[in-house]
Amino acid sequence: MLTTPQFSGLQGPARDLLLERLKKTRTRIASAASRYGRAPESVGLVGIAKGHPAEAIAVLAEAGLRDFGENYLQEALPKLAALAPLTERHGLTWHFTGQIQANKTRPIAEHFHWVHTLDREKIAIRLNDQRPHYAPPLQVCIQVRLVDEPGKGGVTPEELPALARTVSGLPRLCLRGLMCLPPPSESFDTQRARFEQLARYREALNAQGWALDTLSMGMSDDLEAAVAAGATWVRIGTALFGERRPPGGQTPLA
Ligand SMILES: *Cc1c(COP(=O)(O)O)cnc(C)c1O
Repeated sequence: MLTTPQFSGLQGPARDLLLERLKKTRTRIASAASRYGRAPESVGLVGIAKGHPAEAIAVLAEAGLRDFGENYLQEALPKLAALAPLTERHGLTWHFTGQIQANKTRPIAEHFHWVHTLDREKIAIRLNDQRPHYAPPLQVCIQVRLVDEPGKGGVTPEELPALARTVSGLPRLCLRGLMCLPPPSESFDTQRARFEQLARYREALNAQGWALDTLSMGMSDDLEAAVAAGATWVRIGTALFGERRPPGGQTPLA
């Protein structure tokens, strides 16, 4: 078995709990996939690690999870640095899933493989310019705001085609699909209807000549509805890592 001496802090019950949650989450994805006639491997799992220490990520990486998401650069960069050996050993893929500030695009372009939350032309151009020449193109989803919520990220459906055209013209970005983060809803039918809306926006773009293969949608509380509607990435935080610390809070060693 592989060991990571620098992360030996997370052992015992905390580790067992993470492994148990990983198993449960995978089972939820597999049962939803089978219920809706999809291959379980067509639904990718991104572990959203904001508010959780590198040690917790390491446990899940050692257990076979390969995709991890971060929302806040200030928190993410030290964790990425600490996990660099593990990233290399296991070929981990890092997803940026937070709101992007125009003056902070460089570290995203340099350290991440995917960006799920692109919603502005200016950001697209900066990410393209700052993507290092030695790295493959940055894999990108455009975030779409399905429900009008002031202050929330995402383009409106009306703005989507123009941003998709811009991104397609940028050689260091590869437009893969769409992402949404709808407001929480208790109702499965409401959740599913919103996710199906995102799926229709992708179909509309594909009918105009794009070949988008990605729908990033579904979190801990609504992953089944997202799988029903065709999610190819579900972004799971709490159900995998447990309750998280608030943004800006310390992430202590476990
Ligand atoms: C925090 C976050 C998640 C995970 O949310 P959970 O409800 O904890 O699973 C997924 N996507 C984005 C964009 C997030 O910010």
